[in-house]
Amino acid sequence: MFKLHPIPDADFCCPFCEGALQPQGWYMPGMRILADLRCDDCDQEYYGDLPSGHGLCFPMLLNKTTGEVWDQYQASWFASWLHVGYRDRQKTPVPFTSEEFRPIRQPIVLNCLDAMYGHGLLKLVHAQHYLDYYQEYDLIVIVPRWLRWLVPQDVAAIWTIDLPLRQGHEWNDWIAQEIQQRLAQFDHGWLASAYAHSFSELHVERFTQIQPFPIEEWDDQLNQLTVTFIWREDRLWVDSHIQQWRDRRFPGRLGRMWKKLAAQWFPALQEQTQQVIQLAEQLRQCYPQIRFVIAGLGKAGGLPDWITDLRTQTITEDVERSWCELYAQSQVIVGIHGSNMLLPSAHAATVIELMPNDRLGNVMQDLLLIPEAESRFAVFRYRFVPLESSPQVIAATIKSMIQTLPFAMIYLKSFQQTPCFNQPEVVTKRYRQSRLRELARPAS
Ligand SMILES: [Zn+2]
Repeated sequence: MFKLHPIPDADFCCPFCEGALQPQGWYMPGMRILADLRCDDCDQEYYGDLPSGHGLCFPMLLNKTTGEVWDQYQASWFASWLHVGYRDRQKTPVPFTSEEFRPIRQPIVLNCLDAMYGHGLLKLVHAQHYLDYYQEYDLIVIVPRWLRWLVPQDVAAIWTIDLPLRQGHEWNDWIAQEIQQRLAQFDHGWLASAYAHSFSELHVERFTQIQPFPIEEWDDQLNQLTVTFIWREDRLWVDSHIQQWRDRRFPGRLGRMWKKLAAQWFPALQEQTQQVIQLAEQLRQCYPQIRFVIAGLGKAGGLPDWITDLRTQTITEDVERSWCELYAQSQVIVGIHGSNMLLPSAHAATVIELMPNDRLGNVMQDLLLIPEAESRFAVFRYRFVPLESSPQVIAATIKSMIQTLPFAMIYLKSFQQTPCFNQPEVVTKRYRQSRLRELARPAS
């Protein structure tokens, strides 16, 4: 964590004279957490990103007079949000709710405002670190309304700001003044780094109040085999060869005509629906009692009645909670890479993720793994497959995982992590039972 209040620890150089910029204070006009900086030699004032969230990796500098942004890390999207936000800055009041659960003496501020669902959620997950390792401090979490339900119950305070996701990158001077006034009463304040990529100890139940799938009870839970497909409509599981046709570019009018015709001839959403139905059918041949569920953001309907369709176009807290309950009952979750996989992966027993080529560099960023100290077993539980994989390949992968997980728990987990290793007869019995069950299944 970093010193924020009253004068933050900030390490920036003037873009002109290269002298150290002097921090004068801080400013938080929304998702941006900025040091207020000055160069006396050049008589210029700046704002610079403090080390929290993406400000840790890509700190930008903005000239207060000209609005020019210095982006030495070439994170153009992050620079653009700052540039456009400052240019179009607002001062409209927005609903601001403060809940204080205990007296605050040493505040640490965790700001989870963001324009991206996944970024906001990943920042919030970082709360666990401060709750566990900085118990003498008081964690204040700033969240947009859509994240409020996920805030752990043991924080000191929650400041909820009604800022829709699409406005998450806005610069609002009213928000800045509101936060400034609330922190002014304290002699000192700190900033949570929201370094959202270290989750080896994540306990998601502290956020959702829902226990993840009890992997140690895998055998018992098989009575209700549940496989869930995570649906999204803006990144699709479709045949890559057909997609190449769909994406062909032609100049001018021909291009517009082709776009229209391609959408008619090769409707991508229908193709995804067919792929998912094929996957479900393949699994049903092997497991006639399977509960195959589709959940996620999308229009429901058009599926065989034996598939449970939980898609919706209106996300509410109740919907998200019920989806998390479903994930926690799912032996396998399948879905396309993206923030849609964060909460599913944090609750389900195993995950198969379809990876598009253009997202390969972002692998793992969208998964919240259940704490799993044994890396070999973690690789068993969390699989990545190319987006081009057919329903047949995914079905075969799921079948192999369902059939071999009990053995993997024995073979791939270390000695100390498998309590029943102290009782060889239990292991043997379990192995035999699993083996018999496997043999009893119809060949697929
Ligand atoms: Zn200067």
